[in-house]
Amino acid sequence: KHMINIWRKHALTVKGSDIPAPVEHFSSLVRPPLNVPEHVVNNLFTRAHRVPTPVQMQAIPALIRRRDVLACAPTGSGKTLAFLIPMFALLKQPDPTSVGVRALVISPTMELAVQIEREAFFLLKGGNRWKLVQHGQSTKGKDICVSTPGRLASLIKQKLIDLSMVEILVFDEGDKLWDDRTDFLPVVDTIIAACSNPNKVVALFTATMSERVEANAMSVMHPDPVRIIVQGRT
Ligand code: ADP
Ligand code: MG
Repeated sequence: KHMINIWRKHALTVKGSDIPAPVEHFSSLVRPPLNVPEHVVNNLFTRAHRVPTPVQMQAIPALIRRRDVLACAPTGSGKTLAFLIPMFALLKQPDPTSVGVRALVISPTMELAVQIEREAFFLLKGGNRWKLVQHGQSTKGKDICVSTPGRLASLIKQKLIDLSMVEILVFDEGDKLWDDRTDFLPVVDTIIAACSNPNKVVALFTATMSERVEANAMSVMHPDPVRIIVQGRT
């Protein structure tokens, strides 16, 4: 089958039922059924990104189809855009009336969170009314928030953030979030509980997969996520 050839060519292993077709070129993102906002794709082109990386090929259509995604791909394989591009498609348009953020990205460190924010700002250029939460601001009328578990937990405790509207929840560097040497575990549970929308799309990206990461991911996802594994150096 066509899909299997694409997977083989890009050293992709994909598991789950009813897998959406992989995207081989960014230009097909703007067309149905994916309907990624045009400014997002134009911004990719200004950076001379023409073809998706393997993890992007499969994660983007899966997330846009509202499937949960568990993706393992090496460092440097383009995981950031693999969740930011579909995020814009899922949210469709900025919503300045929303009582809370609609997309939440959890990153293990502030340094990484800032990098992800920078990528998000890059993609939203030209799509004027999109709003990103910046530190300490209220989340009312904002679309996207990128933060660390520690910061989120303290915002939740102080009731400074409303996560009940979150439609897409992304865990970046899942291996670091659920490492037993870090103490993120109870904090991550608090955040998940605050993201109370049962129809939210959940994604976890990681450079390495362990039983622990996988078990924790499965415990916060809907049954039958799309699992994507990109072979390569680890
Ligand atoms: P990871 O999170 O998997 O370690 P990043 O998302 O940080 O990787 O991406 C690594 C680099 O690859 C970044 O500089 C990014 O701009 C670049 N990149 C991402 N996607 C593409 C693409 N489709 N084509 C070319 N470069 C890309
Ligand atoms: Mg990354």
